[in-house]
Amino acid sequence: MTAKVDKDTCIGCGACAATCPAVFEMNDDGIAEVIKQPEAADFDSAREASEGCPVEAITIEE
Ligand code: SF4
Repeated sequence: MTAKVDKDTCIGCGACAATCPAVFEMNDDGIAEVIKQPEAADFDSAREASEGCPVEAITIEE
């Protein structure tokens, strides 16, 4: 699985970082970034973060 954040689309709500902190972190600009590609233990929460993003800025490739 790979996770990507479209930085131009992200509105900085912080939801992904709260849902899946192992993979997503808010950077100094207030935009989410992927700090580590999901490992097996992160798959469910990474998918949940993607589905929960209000602007669909997170792409998950299985
Ligand atoms: S949930 Fe979406 S809009 Fe919110 S911080 Fe994460 S990527 Fe950005």
